[in-house]
Amino acid sequence: MLDRFSRSGANAIYIKEQLKSQGIYIQSVKQPIDGSTSSGDFQQNIHMIFLHYDNQLRKERCMAGTREALMRGVWCAHKPIGYDKIVINGETKLVVNNDGKLLKKAFYWKVNENLNSEQCVARLANLGLKVSHQKMSTIFRNPFYCGLISHNLLEGKMVEGKREKLISKEVFLKVNEIQNKNSFGYKQTPEQINIPLKVFVKCDKCGLGLTGYVVKSKNLWYYKCRNKGCCVNKASEPLNVLFENVLTDYSLDPENSSLMLELLITEFYARTKENEENLKLLKENYQEINRKLERLEQRFMSEEITKELYLKFVEKNKEEQVKIHRDLQQFELGTSNPEDCAQLITSYAQDLRKIWLSGDYVQKQKLQNYLFPKGIRYCKNSGLVRTEDYNSVFLWIALKQGDLGQKKCGIPSLNLDYAALVDPTGIELTFCFF
Ligand SMILES: [Zn+2]
Repeated sequence: MLDRFSRSGANAIYIKEQLKSQGIYIQSVKQPIDGSTSSGDFQQNIHMIFLHYDNQLRKERCMAGTREALMRGVWCAHKPIGYDKIVINGETKLVVNNDGKLLKKAFYWKVNENLNSEQCVARLANLGLKVSHQKMSTIFRNPFYCGLISHNLLEGKMVEGKREKLISKEVFLKVNEIQNKNSFGYKQTPEQINIPLKVFVKCDKCGLGLTGYVVKSKNLWYYKCRNKGCCVNKASEPLNVLFENVLTDYSLDPENSSLMLELLITEFYARTKENEENLKLLKENYQEINRKLERLEQRFMSEEITKELYLKFVEKNKEEQVKIHRDLQQFELGTSNPEDCAQLITSYAQDLRKIWLSGDYVQKQKLQNYLFPKGIRYCKNSGLVRTEDYNSVFLWIALKQGDLGQKKCGIPSLNLDYAALVDPTGIELTFCFF
């Protein structure tokens, strides 16, 4: 099944594209879709998006519950080192274990003896607790140990946890004061906020991914070509805006969403037709085996073949039959809910820009690679961006939207000539791009 391959949507499609460029196609044993054909590829993309959304929905539901528990002071994420989970009277509790008692010593070594992290790591190792240097720093910085809860879902809020504390807040703060003086610390790089298109945007001249730099005196960020001889560079802000415009052009107008939904479902079924032929074939094979089994029985009854041979053939055919039966079942499962799938895609398509803007660096990069698996190219001379590779489903939506009488000129921000994409004789040619 494709969900065994990946449920990460964007990433899955990206990996698939990378493999495809090497001539490798993904084939799901249980969903007989041929990834080397354009319609198979389209279907795989849809499946991958669906699986990704399925995951997102589950995650969201789960996140709401997690947040609510965190607010009540209940830690429900992974338990940190030094704690054990125990259940008392049906209630799960976190208690300090032996490792925790040793870690507590490390906090005090730092405060009372001013040991550095490395020395703490060595001492702990002597006492039988192995912790890496990096892990040690993470432990010293984790407010969990002084009873507080800090979590991404709490959006910067600190909540008093309901559990045994390892150390007091005073000790925790002292340790962190010392840590901050000694260490260079990990900081979230402002890079991530200012140059989300890093590597994704390629230099049109050399094809290399652009990197970023900052002019500190002005606090201005730039993208530049990694090729030293090439002088392509560009302030990050306008290029980011250019990409936002691409997303806007690419987005589905909410007014068209219900119509698009219908079109997408129809398209999906049309493309499944090919698979229906496979399905027919499977069913025919199944019946053929049934006929074979009947013939075998007749031959055995009329003593044309021995019992031994009869049983041997029956077993072989039964095995085959079970296999086909399983394929048939999976096949029907695999294409069971194109409506849900189309629904998710159309809602996603409406919010591309918003989703991109609200994401962090990693999410942004994922979405970018999802929509444009080979990145986009920036041409300094024309100041335009273009791309050779599109996510087939979203391009299909963008083109269909053009057909609906909007954005007639195609996707102007991408310098995409609509006329060049669509063959006036029919839609077939359009799919060559997928
Ligand atoms: Zn260059």
